[in-house]
Amino acid sequence: MTESLFGARWPQAAPLHLRGVILPSRVEADLWVVEGKITFVPQLDAVELDDTRTTPSVHASRWILSGLVDAHCHIGLGAGGGVTRSEAEAQALTDLRSGVTLVRDAGVPIDTAWLEGSSQAPKIIRSGRHIARPRRYLKDFGVEIEPDCLVEEVRRQASASQGWVKLVGDWIDRDGGDLAPLWPADIAAQAIRAAHEEGARVTAHCFGEESVSQLVRAGIDCIEHGCGLDSETVRIMAGEGIALVPTLDNWRIFPGIADQAQDRFPTYAAHMRALYATRAEAIGAAIAAGVQVYAGTDAGGTRSHGTILPELQALAELGGTDFALGAASWRARTWLGRPGLEEGAPADLLILDSDPSRDLNSLASPAAILLDGVPVVS
Ligand SMILES: [Zn+2]
Repeated sequence: MTESLFGARWPQAAPLHLRGVILPSRVEADLWVVEGKITFVPQLDAVELDDTRTTPSVHASRWILSGLVDAHCHIGLGAGGGVTRSEAEAQALTDLRSGVTLVRDAGVPIDTAWLEGSSQAPKIIRSGRHIARPRRYLKDFGVEIEPDCLVEEVRRQASASQGWVKLVGDWIDRDGGDLAPLWPADIAAQAIRAAHEEGARVTAHCFGEESVSQLVRAGIDCIEHGCGLDSETVRIMAGEGIALVPTLDNWRIFPGIADQAQDRFPTYAAHMRALYATRAEAIGAAIAAGVQVYAGTDAGGTRSHGTILPELQALAELGGTDFALGAASWRARTWLGRPGLEEGAPADLLILDSDPSRDLNSLASPAAILLDGVPVVS
C-alpha cells in the first residue's frame, strides 16, 4: 500500500485502470498502468481509479495526457546562484505538483544528478552550466570564459550534460550601453559544430535581434526567449527545424529591467521596451510560420517554480489551447526524444476532470498526476 493522492487504499502493486479521452487524439479509451508503464492490454484484477479514491466520485468523463514538459527551467538555481540540495528538492517538488513530469534544464551552477529517479521530482534533462563571459551575465550563474575558450568549454559542458548545452547569446554590453552578442559569429559556429560532434544540441539565451540572427545562421538547435526574431530568421528556423522556447510569461520583467537601467543605460532601456512592445508580434509570426515552439517557465533565479499554467495561457493567447497543450506535452516530449502516451512508456500522466482544450484552468487541479505510475502527493 502506498500513501497517495487517493489516500492509503491504493495498492501500488496492482494494475491501475484508467478510462478517459486521450489527448491529443481525443479518442475515449482504456489504459492500464502496470509496474509504472502504460499498457493498452486489458489487465485482470486492475484497480479502478474511482475505487482508489477516499471520496468516491461519480464516474465522470476524464481527460488523460502525458505529463507536462517545462522546456526552460532551472532546478537548483536561486537569485544568488546555486542553491542547497534541500532548496533544489523543494523547487523540483513544486514543479512536479504543477503537473510537470519532465524538465529540460536550461543551465544550473550545481549538478542535480542526485534528483534522477526521485519520486519527488520531475525527470530532468540536464544541460550543465550556462556558458557566459566575464561581466556579461548574471553573477555566479554560469561559467565565465573568453571566446577563445568557447569551443573547449562547449565540449566540456556537452560531456557533463544529458544532450544539451546552454549558451548566453546576448546580454548588456556596459561599454556599448546596449544588448550585444557575447560570441563572434564564427566562433559560435565552431562551438555548435563541436557540440554536435559530442552528440549534444545547443540552445542560447537571446533577447536582441543580432544574437538570434547570428546563432540561427550558425546552426544552433534552439533559441530561448527570441524576442528579437525577424522574418528572415523565422523563415530559417521553420525550414531548419530550429526550436523556440519563448518563456512568454517571464517577459513581464522587461519593463522593470528597463526602468532600472534607464539612468545609466538609456539605449539599452529603450531597446528592452521596444522588444517588449513587439513580443506578441514576434512570437506570433514564428508560430504562424511553423517554427516549433515549446513551453518554458524560466523558473529559477528570481522566478517562482510551479508556473507552467500561466505560460500555457500566454501561449494559448497566440496559438490556441491545443497548440499550447502540445507545446507543453506531446509535441515537447517528441522533440526531447521521450515517449508519449504509448504502449510501454513510463506512466507519467495527467488525469483531468475537465477538458483542458476548453479551459486550461483544468490543469490547475488535476484528478491525479502520475510519475512512473505512482500518484504524486499534493
Ligand atoms: Zn533561463
